[in-house]
Amino acid sequence: MKVLIIGLDGATWNVLDDSLLGQHMPNLNKLKSSGTSGVLHSTEPPITAASWTTCITGCHPHTHGIIGWHEYSCSEDRLRISTSDSCKVPNIWQELSKQGLKVASINVPWTFPCKEVNGIMIAGYGCPGPESQFTYPVDFKDELLKRIPDYDIVAKWDKSKTYSPDELDANMTRVERSFQQRVEAAKLVSEKLNWDVMMIQFHDTDLIEHHIWPYLDKTTRDQYPQQRDRVFESYERLDEAVGELLDLISTKESMVVVVSDHGLCRKVARVKPNVMLCQWGYLESKGKLRTTIQRRLRRSFDSSRSKDGKKSGIKQPKEYDFKWPDSKAMVIDTAVNGHLFINVKDRQPDGIVEPGTEYDKLLEELRERFGNAVNPHTGELIFSKVGTPAEIYDFSDTDTTMFGDLVLVPQPGIELVLSDSKDGEYIEMTRSDSLMGAHCYEGIYLFSGRDIKNSIGEQTHIVNIAPTIYAALGVELPMYMDGSVLGTLFEKEVPVSYQKSRIDVSCRSDDRQVLSTEEEAEITKRLSALGYVE
Ligand SMILES: [Zn+2]
Repeated sequence: MKVLIIGLDGATWNVLDDSLLGQHMPNLNKLKSSGTSGVLHSTEPPITAASWTTCITGCHPHTHGIIGWHEYSCSEDRLRISTSDSCKVPNIWQELSKQGLKVASINVPWTFPCKEVNGIMIAGYGCPGPESQFTYPVDFKDELLKRIPDYDIVAKWDKSKTYSPDELDANMTRVERSFQQRVEAAKLVSEKLNWDVMMIQFHDTDLIEHHIWPYLDKTTRDQYPQQRDRVFESYERLDEAVGELLDLISTKESMVVVVSDHGLCRKVARVKPNVMLCQWGYLESKGKLRTTIQRRLRRSFDSSRSKDGKKSGIKQPKEYDFKWPDSKAMVIDTAVNGHLFINVKDRQPDGIVEPGTEYDKLLEELRERFGNAVNPHTGELIFSKVGTPAEIYDFSDTDTTMFGDLVLVPQPGIELVLSDSKDGEYIEMTRSDSLMGAHCYEGIYLFSGRDIKNSIGEQTHIVNIAPTIYAALGVELPMYMDGSVLGTLFEKEVPVSYQKSRIDVSCRSDDRQVLSTEEEAEITKRLSALGYVE
């Protein structure tokens, strides 16, 4: 049996509703009406790097270790981009390769640098682009670019506050070309490899939703009939792309999985937690905000330096609008959630807060202040949760200092930004004519094909996708997976078995201990919950 996995970044049923599917997307509609589909709950945080890594490992972020775009080193006071090397468990391509299957992965985020597999990998978002060594095998890149010279990860989008018909058309035309690039890559891979499992990720669905959300959302798009119709044309092209992918398999003998990493919703506000820290006296502003022109000059200076290799290109904490060395706390990174760091003596180079009582008192003060912070425009709490990384991400044995001392989880639609504010306001409500979208937890899943029931599925979690694919393939699940098999999808009971010992698959840190008693008990509990063991 073959398994074809189609990843639609940021896809949500609020866009892909029955009306869009029924009238414009016959291939996706047929898959949906013949299979089982539902809402897919994303990871905490619902962010591409963490969520796709969960999708392709079957592990929560606290197990695989990728929380966002960056990792912060306290001792160096430095942010770095996280990569596939940050992932502490093998991905499904590595695992299935070891079990003798042929695999292909096209454009899946956070798979750069590509790992060695029994097949072909083309890295997705999170890789530097086609100039980099973004394929495995390395020499496959030449073949790919020879066949598809304009191949890129995601379409270029020209941003505007409002889009003229021509501007929208130009953007959507590039998006359509991007959809087609994915299909051409899948065809090339299929010529080279008789694959068992192939995943193709379309990143542009997320791109569109970020920039023109009201033209897509089923509750607002009819207010913009001209824009809606142009965007629907592109969704027709996406559906044709899905159709061409389905032509690569026999649908009767294969399973098709359509999945997104998170959903999107309307952006309701931008919140500046560092301005809140300034107002409460924990952080000092550098005072003179740079003018727009100075900012632009600075930005071009930064990027030129990064090309020289002297600078990473990532704005470092000392370059923020705040006096970090003289301050007690600052939000250093955002990955939907805000990661607040306390400037701890002997932990950070310029630390001023004594560990112990002073640290504990400060942490509790900040927890209370952020936890009770109210949006003055709505009277609602700004943050849905405030807690330590261990509390929010469920870490038990990981070095949590990479992810802050306190994690701020904003309410849906609120975007956290790190900069200072011109007018001292820490919250900017989104204008009613804004087109921007923001990440939310509710994505989509859809299983169709061999042995899959025709039913309405219950809401499930993205961590369960990989284990379910393993069970459908009839291969043993790795013991470290956090997810469970969605047994109710299948027409008949699917046997689930776990590897008796870990197959040696290299990843960043392969020194995890073999299953503990508690872990065994957890797996047994999951098997029991599905009725596979008593
Ligand atoms: Zn995403």
